[in-house]
Amino acid sequence: MAVAALTVDIDVHFNDVSAQSGTSAPSPTGVAKNLEVYYPGTEALDPDEMRIVALGTGMPSPRPKQAAACFLVELGNGDKFFFDIGAGCHERIAAQKIPYDFIDKVFISHLHVDHYGDLASFWLGGTTMNRLTPLRIWGPSGHTPEYGTAYAMARMQEMYVWDIGTRAGFIDFRGGQLEINEFPYETDNEAIFEENGVVIKSFPAIHAIDGSVSFILEWNDLTFVYGGDTAPNKWYIEYAKGADVAIHESFLDPTLLVSKQGFAPLEALNVGTVAHTSPAQFGKVMSLVKPRLAVGYHFQNDFDTEPVARKEIRKTYDGELALAQDYMVFNVTKDEIRVRMSAIDEDIFPSPPLKPKNAPDVSKMIPMSDFVRSGHLTFPEVVQPIYDNINEIYGTDYKLPGED
Ligand SMILES: [Zn+2]
Ligand SMILES: [Zn+2]
Repeated sequence: MAVAALTVDIDVHFNDVSAQSGTSAPSPTGVAKNLEVYYPGTEALDPDEMRIVALGTGMPSPRPKQAAACFLVELGNGDKFFFDIGAGCHERIAAQKIPYDFIDKVFISHLHVDHYGDLASFWLGGTTMNRLTPLRIWGPSGHTPEYGTAYAMARMQEMYVWDIGTRAGFIDFRGGQLEINEFPYETDNEAIFEENGVVIKSFPAIHAIDGSVSFILEWNDLTFVYGGDTAPNKWYIEYAKGADVAIHESFLDPTLLVSKQGFAPLEALNVGTVAHTSPAQFGKVMSLVKPRLAVGYHFQNDFDTEPVARKEIRKTYDGELALAQDYMVFNVTKDEIRVRMSAIDEDIFPSPPLKPKNAPDVSKMIPMSDFVRSGHLTFPEVVQPIYDNINEIYGTDYKLPGED
């Protein structure tokens, strides 16, 4: 009798404390509602919904709490995009429980390591984690070809010759291909990507030397703006105006660059207000852009730094504001922008493959030298039982190498 009553009234017990009276009231055992936490892999996107996940919000040197720049945009049509892929963000990508095959598009705002430092890790690591499609990369040109994205990508492929050589004959290596799309950094709010109802435009940013840009993603009457590193600039204010979500750097305040990071005062002013955008400048930018939601990132977001940034921003901007931390999630529709934090599973395995794998191309296998092979201890007495076990589980008949 008591059990039946508890089952029926479980929502009441969670949501109405007054339903529990005295110490003898039964405790709730059902499913709590509205936890205000995002659990990756557990929520379907509505067809008209955009989900943005901050996977890197910190400064150039990553730290356990914050990787360098990376934002994931997922759309209700199934498309997924990375905007920057900075140092330290790769593990946060795994935390999203998205099979690698479905996250193959990366837009790089500029070639600072804190904005693409984990690209190689994601590219080549992804080939062992089931991406069977080429990795597609978009990035700006530079003032000369050597400063452009295509040059950097070609050298990245050269840099990882050994890594590629180890994998090509051992696994299905289709994911090791790169599709490189370099576009002029002067692109002035014109499309660099148009597929599947999604338009992504680029416009210039002002940061260090020519070759930093910002992006706008337009889909389903929603506008997402991702600002690459920049000083306040006219393009952002013109093109981001009225966006649904406008992300822009809000660098560590110059006072904190001195007190926390050991900058000399003039260094802090140059870096914090000329090469980058200080919180006070961010506020001014957003007061002119007037987005539905302004998102600041690119600083160590802590209990003592966030209030400094917020105070500076609020001198000029009084609209909706989020100062991003890693794993902050934004669900965007025309009716609502919901901001939550993710609950992260530290033990997550990358998602298993959804597509069938091909047998590796053994012709690509690079043989070891006789010298190294001469040192191999084969220990058949322990390896043969491993083969026997696998053969028994999977009904196969694999033999130890050299025993065919
Ligand atoms: Zn930069
Ligand atoms: Zn940066």
